[in-house]
Amino acid sequence: MKRRIAILGSTGSIGTQALDVISKHPSLLCAEVLTAKSNASLLIEQAIKHNVNAVVIADESKYEQVFKALDPYDIKVFTGKDSIGKLASGQNIHIVLTAMVGFSGLKPTIEAIKAGKAIALANKETLVAAGSIIMKLAKEYNAPIIPVDSEHSAIFQCLQGERAGIEKILLTASGGPFLGKTEREMEEATIEDALNHPKWNMGSKVSIDSATMMNKGLEMIEAHWLFDTEPSNIEIVVHPQSIVHSMVQFSDGSVTAQMSTPDMRLPIQYALTYPHRVSLNTERINFSSLSKLEFFKPNFNKFPTLKIAYKAIERGGNIPCAMNAANEAAVECFLSGKIKFTQIVKIIEETIKETLFIKEPSLEEIFETDKTAYKTATKLCYALTNKNQTK
Ligand code: MN
Repeated sequence: MKRRIAILGSTGSIGTQALDVISKHPSLLCAEVLTAKSNASLLIEQAIKHNVNAVVIADESKYEQVFKALDPYDIKVFTGKDSIGKLASGQNIHIVLTAMVGFSGLKPTIEAIKAGKAIALANKETLVAAGSIIMKLAKEYNAPIIPVDSEHSAIFQCLQGERAGIEKILLTASGGPFLGKTEREMEEATIEDALNHPKWNMGSKVSIDSATMMNKGLEMIEAHWLFDTEPSNIEIVVHPQSIVHSMVQFSDGSVTAQMSTPDMRLPIQYALTYPHRVSLNTERINFSSLSKLEFFKPNFNKFPTLKIAYKAIERGGNIPCAMNAANEAAVECFLSGKIKFTQIVKIIEETIKETLFIKEPSLEEIFETDKTAYKTATKLCYALTNKNQTK
């Protein structure tokens, strides 16, 4: 039977690559629902090309444009954020690929879980902000969560057929564009420098997160929830070649790794076709020309986001949610030129300090924490903007 897929965030980096994967396996996969925040023209193009059942354009001011363009086709058009979760949990959907950016992924993911859909999770912020709630709901509603993030897909692949528990997760990191740069150079980094990732071509949010290494902090928390592993048993390892996408160590000392050339279509496809493997035209690893695979400890002083993330998950409760919200706000401010690269960290630290700790937050309290922390961080950004300008 063909798997019908809802792609939440179809116009982003993961979404477009998912459509590429789907189009290569028309007998196995089909795109049923596409949703986008505001990129109306690409959404229209995708909807027609993949002959989908329905689309959502979240930005209501773009509804008219999308509706008119798709009117001659048999494609339903909806608008507003609330339509996303509704369509994703529709009866005709088998898999929901959550590929939207940031905290906005939480609500529709919860709706899809409650409808018992398989979740191909590409939105790590959902687990960072509300991991305990999401994992509990997934169990309760029997909704499998299949990771799409390359590291987590690697871990997931390493665990296939294993009955033994995990002793340790080795979460690999490319190190981002500032791996070999000095702290001084990071101070002066431009938006362009920070977006220029050496190994992966990704959306702007995750590219900046890679530059600060907050991405690895978020992924450590994501791994903690997905694989029920204590943060102290998740070791971040810098691996600049990005060939090993993560490893699992078992109680007998055996370590398994998943390797491939860096290409996001692989973990996307594996999540959509799981437990099957099907062909994919990635560049193959040429082992005889690989001169070396390096692994080393990350520099926690140069990348304080890693410390912040371990501390945040250790404290638990609503703190990772506040950290995530502060990061989202700070990254946006950096991308719009309001603050310096190194000020992102300051804003996250300061926001966490100002967050009221809640040990076991309800979903409402998670939404509240996100809102408050986002506001606090934005305010801090504006204060810094003024300071930067008067200097
Ligand atoms: Mn990743």
